[in-house]
Amino acid sequence: MSKVYNNNFTDELRQRLSLVDVISRRVPLTKKGQNYWGCCPFHNEKTPSFSVSEDKGFYHCFGCGEHGDIISFTMKSENVDFKTAIKELADMAGLKVPDYKPRDPAQVAREETYVIITDNAAKLYQQKLFEECGAHALEYIKKRGFTDDMIKKYRIGYAPKNNIISGTFTSAKSETLISTGLVRRGDYGLYDFFRDKLMFPIFNAHNQIVAFSGRSLDGSEPKYINTTDTELFHKRQTIFGFNFARDAIHRANRSIVVEGQIDAIQMQCHGFGETVAPLGTALTEDHIAILCKANRNIIFCFDGDAAGQKAAVRACGIVLPFLRDNSDVRFAFVTGGKDPDDILKTSGVDAMKKIIDSATPLIDFLWDTTNKSYITSTPGGRSQAEKFLKNQIEKIVDIDFRREIENEYDSRKFNQWHKWRKNDNKTPQIDLPSIDDITQKTLVYIVNTYPELVERYGEFLSSLNINFDAYSSNDLNLDLKSSEKYIVSLKLNKYIEKLKNDKKELIQMALSGDIGATSQIEKIDNDIKIANEKLESLINME
Ligand SMILES: [Zn+2]
Repeated sequence: MSKVYNNNFTDELRQRLSLVDVISRRVPLTKKGQNYWGCCPFHNEKTPSFSVSEDKGFYHCFGCGEHGDIISFTMKSENVDFKTAIKELADMAGLKVPDYKPRDPAQVAREETYVIITDNAAKLYQQKLFEECGAHALEYIKKRGFTDDMIKKYRIGYAPKNNIISGTFTSAKSETLISTGLVRRGDYGLYDFFRDKLMFPIFNAHNQIVAFSGRSLDGSEPKYINTTDTELFHKRQTIFGFNFARDAIHRANRSIVVEGQIDAIQMQCHGFGETVAPLGTALTEDHIAILCKANRNIIFCFDGDAAGQKAAVRACGIVLPFLRDNSDVRFAFVTGGKDPDDILKTSGVDAMKKIIDSATPLIDFLWDTTNKSYITSTPGGRSQAEKFLKNQIEKIVDIDFRREIENEYDSRKFNQWHKWRKNDNKTPQIDLPSIDDITQKTLVYIVNTYPELVERYGEFLSSLNINFDAYSSNDLNLDLKSSEKYIVSLKLNKYIEKLKNDKKELIQMALSGDIGATSQIEKIDNDIKIANEKLESLINME
């Protein structure tokens, strides 16, 4: 039945759509263990015996024996034929049904041959890694911390400098060899695409090798070359390590996405089995769709540098349409020019765990990004920031969830962008992003030496977010009175700084025609004057 359609399309539907999502539209499901359970829609029952496995892509009823996949569920539950079901599911996935054409038996045979060739090529590469020609490759991979078991599990190999594939698979038709991307045709006949490369096989979801990623060993760029897209390999739809990670993703109820393949393998082998990596740097929505089919909890782990930040913002934009109210998407950053592989090697598994555990939730990441990218103390900056946020939030498909996010951001905007509006009362609210090291050190000294001052100025001191662990200060000598003076003058200074900022903002508003702002400016000027007088008398006080 499914032979009528191009298998790739039904596969793509299965990949794009969550079986649990589709069945949930008709049958309420509850998660128990790895599977979901509900009352069977195909026979009458009061206690659930209908189980759905997202992982395997199948449902099964233990009451009446009905079972099948996403396509047969749609056919049976809606009483429609295969073609209609496919059309309906394609609409749901936002895909266009390709032309209705029978699957060519010659193509089936071609695909089978393809997989046999790539598998044999992998065997050959594996063998070469342990021969003399591959000594430098083996040395490199061992230096990167790969054990023999890891080399075996990931089927890592070495493609020598000579044309080993075109030279060995002489019985295969040249067109067939070329179709695997391993061999190309040149002016002097066939030649190997991968030469003098450390070879990482790329597996499809069925654990078949469909392509390779080759790392250069002589320092030449690019560092990695991948098989160019073939009939069975689409770079944008393939996520490295997923075949190994799938079970762990279900067990951990999350996936981790890192930037590099070696990172992914090292993470998988050091307790983070749920780790995958895109091939090359760009993440696509197909990658996210594959991960979200397992569950919608993803931790992205990027470099802490500017490029990593940029990649994270991009990933955020791609993942937003997949968000549901039960998703947990976070962003972790590895700083200091390191990658997860370095962290695991130099600082250990616990350090990596810390980085993963302290990842920033998407909603905070998006908010921080907005505030970093635009100057929200000016009306123009706020307007740009609003547009950016709005564009992002609109990507969220789940309407109720989107509304909640909008409300959350509205309250943050009010509290953080328009603070002065609330400050009609006498107690100044001071929000300090950071204080310099010397101030911090002095404050730690004061707090440790004069606990009575903590009681008096506790609220202000705690608003400063002082890091008490990182600083010790023995070389200071301040008496109680000077210490108090220090705190009060700091408080006044920060208050004045804040008033001045508010004034700048009010001037902008007055310039754009806000009449109310003008009277506010007068009030603020007066407040600044009073605060300055207080500060002066404090400084002159003996
Ligand atoms: Zn049943």
